[in-house]
Order: sequence, then C-alpha cells, then structure tokens
Amino acid sequence: MKEIRGFETSLGAHVYQIPVEAFPGLWSYAYLVESGNGFVLIDSGSGFGDANQELVEGIFAAGNKILGEDFSLIDLSHVIITHGHIDHIGGLGEIVSRSGALVGVHELDRHTLVNYEERRAVLSRKLRKYLSEAGVDDENKENLLGLYQFTKQLFHSINVDFCYEDLGMQLGEFKFLHVPGHCPGHVVIRFHDILFCGDHILSDITPHQSPEELMPFTGLDHYLKSLDAVEKWSYGVRIALCGHKQVITDLTARIAEIRAAHIIRLEQVWDFFSYPQSIFTLAQTLFGSVNGYNALLAIEEAGAHVEYLYQRGNLVIENYDQLDNSDEPMTFLYKRQ
Ligand SMILES: [Zn+2]
Ligand SMILES: [Zn+2]
Repeated sequence: MKEIRGFETSLGAHVYQIPVEAFPGLWSYAYLVESGNGFVLIDSGSGFGDANQELVEGIFAAGNKILGEDFSLIDLSHVIITHGHIDHIGGLGEIVSRSGALVGVHELDRHTLVNYEERRAVLSRKLRKYLSEAGVDDENKENLLGLYQFTKQLFHSINVDFCYEDLGMQLGEFKFLHVPGHCPGHVVIRFHDILFCGDHILSDITPHQSPEELMPFTGLDHYLKSLDAVEKWSYGVRIALCGHKQVITDLTARIAEIRAAHIIRLEQVWDFFSYPQSIFTLAQTLFGSVNGYNALLAIEEAGAHVEYLYQRGNLVIENYDQLDNSDEPMTFLYKRQ
C-alpha cells in the first residue's frame, strides 16, 4: 500500500489522503475527514482493478489512526463527490453498499451518477460527431470511441441522496463552491483551512479541458471564470489537497500559473491557424503523436481552446459553405479572423 499522508486542520481535525491507482499509472486520491458529525469520505477512486480494495484498506488504515481498532465502515456518514468523473466516483457502489453512507454531489453532476448509462450513450453519439468535425479519420474515430466506451463501462448508475444546492452549499463544517469547467458539476470543498480541489486545480499539470459543445458547463470560458471565483473564495486557505499529484501550499501562485499557461496556449492556437486547418492537426502539433486515451484527451484539450477563440470571433470556419444542406460528417477547417 502507498503511504497514507495525514494532515491536521487549524481546528485540530484530522484529514487523511488515501492513494488509489485509478488506472495503470494514474493515481487518484480519496480523503477521509474526521468531522464533528463523524467521518466523511471525499471522492472514491475509479473502481477499476484493485482500486476498491486499495480504497477500503486505505480507509481502514486512516480510520484506525484516529479510533484505533474500533473503526468500522459504518462510521462513514457521507461520501461527498468533487465531480462526476470515473476516477472519482468509481468506488461509490462498493463504499455505499458496505457503509450505508449518504452520497452527495452537485446538481449538475447528479444526472451522471443517477443515469450513467443514458449519459454515456448520449455523449458517445455527440463525441462521434465531434471527432468527425475535428478531422479524425474513420478508423481512428472508432478506436477512440471504443476506448471511451470501455472506461465508461466501469460504473453503473447509483442513487444520490442529496445535492449541495439543497443544503445551501454547506454540510456541517464543509462548504462548497461550484466551479464548472473541468466538469459541469465540479465543486471545491472548504473544510477549516483546507481546500479540497478535486481536479479543478492540480499541482504540476493544467487540468484537462474539453469543449462546451460536447457538454454544457465545461469549456475553457467556464473554467477560467471558476479559477477567478476560487481565488476570491479561498482567502485564508493554508493548503489545497487535490484529486491527483502534489499538495499545493501557495494556491494563489498556482492559479496564476494555470491561467498564464492557458493564455500562452491560446496564443499558440491563434498562431497555428494562419491558414485553414483542423482541430486534429492542431492536437498533433500541440501534443505530438499521443496514443490511446491520451489521444482523445489531446483532441478535447485542443478543441476547448479552439472553441474559446471561435466563441469570440477570433477564429472562423473557412469551409462553412459546405455545411449548408448536408448532414454528412465533415471536417471543420478553422482559420483566424
Ligand atoms: Zn476529472
Ligand atoms: Zn481526476
């Protein structure tokens, strides 16, 4: 088992960071928090491979540090989810069935948890169209859709007990701020002087962006506004604990770095479209020849930046005259205005 790190809040409550290998090479964190009303789990790993076993062992190891051998999973009162991505929700079924804990999520990600199979089918269809317009050839497209469907098969719909809005964005000592962008219903969670960031802010990579065209409340515009909102909301936060990577001790500086990285990327994208080209070609130029799921992430990331410039009229679709009167899949060629 990887090391479980412990933290103490300004008011003396214990927080434990539980590492779970969500997918080969991708480590996610769940957090066990000792609150005034019992134990609360934040996020739940992916449910893939040994992830559930690592999660449960980690919860016991952390709980035992506080209660000794008396800790039991039924001491968990709530599981609160930062956002509805598979590497954060995949262990919910296992935890809820063994603990009876109540599950909370933001209302914009509730649909993902409650109607997962339907969401997957609808998104798959949208993604197919999007990949065509991005300029991905048929063989590549089928491979990417296959990968997308495989990872989504890991989860089955689960009941949600409450949404944060229903509670006035506060559960006991936990306070929630909606930060759409990386995921529609993403929240950051404040507990005393610790901020749980999920994937909204990460220490040494910029969190993944995808175009709002695929899913409302994602997209770079929402994301950048949410960065501003967190910066204002986090006054007095001492450390930020994230869904992956390292602990952040200077949140303001990290937010500034992420913002600057997107501005540089937007300039790169603007430079790239001096003549008509596709999102797929842009993704290859920005990220090289990446394979597997990373290829899908690269196209979404490139597409989110194209969308941001297109929304503002900085880019136009050069071959728009071919769009008229046709439902056939076609590649959009973007060019700067
Ligand atoms: Zn995520
Ligand atoms: Zn994640």
